[in-house]
Amino acid sequence: MLVHLKGILEKAIKENYALGCFATHNLETTLGILLAAQAKSSPVIIGVSARSIRYAGLKPITHIVKTAAKNITPLIPVVLHLDHGDTFHSAVECIQSGFSSIMIDASELPFDENVSLTKSVVEYAHRFNVMVEGEIGRVPKTKEDIKRFKLKPEEFLTDPDMAIEFVKKTGVDRLAVSIGNIHGIYKIKNPVKLDFLRLEKIARAVKIPLVLHGASGLEKKEIKKAISSGVRIINIHTEINLAFSQSLKKTLAKNKEEIDPRKILSPSIEAVKRVVEKKIEIFGSIGKA
Ligand SMILES: [Zn+2]
Repeated sequence: MLVHLKGILEKAIKENYALGCFATHNLETTLGILLAAQAKSSPVIIGVSARSIRYAGLKPITHIVKTAAKNITPLIPVVLHLDHGDTFHSAVECIQSGFSSIMIDASELPFDENVSLTKSVVEYAHRFNVMVEGEIGRVPKTKEDIKRFKLKPEEFLTDPDMAIEFVKKTGVDRLAVSIGNIHGIYKIKNPVKLDFLRLEKIARAVKIPLVLHGASGLEKKEIKKAISSGVRIINIHTEINLAFSQSLKKTLAKNKEEIDPRKILSPSIEAVKRVVEKKIEIFGSIGKA
């Protein structure tokens, strides 16, 4: 069933575990996430990014998540979340389409512009009882980012004092932080270490739930420590894409004559399900539905 983020987030804060925010682009990935949540009796956040909305269309992807949550997993709390919203307009569209949670990612802009865009989204979203996540510091996304991050990490890492000012000025409900985490496939081949001192400082300073993006490929003990230091939402995108596409490639290679998309895609649903189940166990949200 579709629920508001507020209730399941409050429970996660009280009981010290993290919610997974799992990325979807299509029906099959959505099914994999929901079936995993059901198997583990866990609440889940389904993240649809602004890029995925451009791919699938806002209404189609919204309806897939809402309808599947209602009909396939009626007893599992499911939150519909806009991930990496990049404009005021994208936030407004999703708020009007029934999302209870929005991320506005203006982290590439200078501090004042990030504050100004994020603040305007917060003011609008709060009128409709929608929660907002902002980002300060910048989680590397591209190959160029990763190169630059190695040379000048301070350009990316979240500064605790700036985080305080950002939260105060914007009124965001939670904060995505950059503490050594990296988006994308890079880190699966090159494990990273998180900066826990920084994370703890930020958590003490801002007193709102923290979000860890780019958590695919992080070791279990790093994730556990991040949760005990104040991370309450963990985004998984790359590992889902990897499971989906690797399974698809294998299925196609094994069954060269097969043309039925249902038979070709079913193993990918299972592959996504397995990844999400494992994450739910690590995050501690198992049995919390
Ligand atoms: Zn992200």
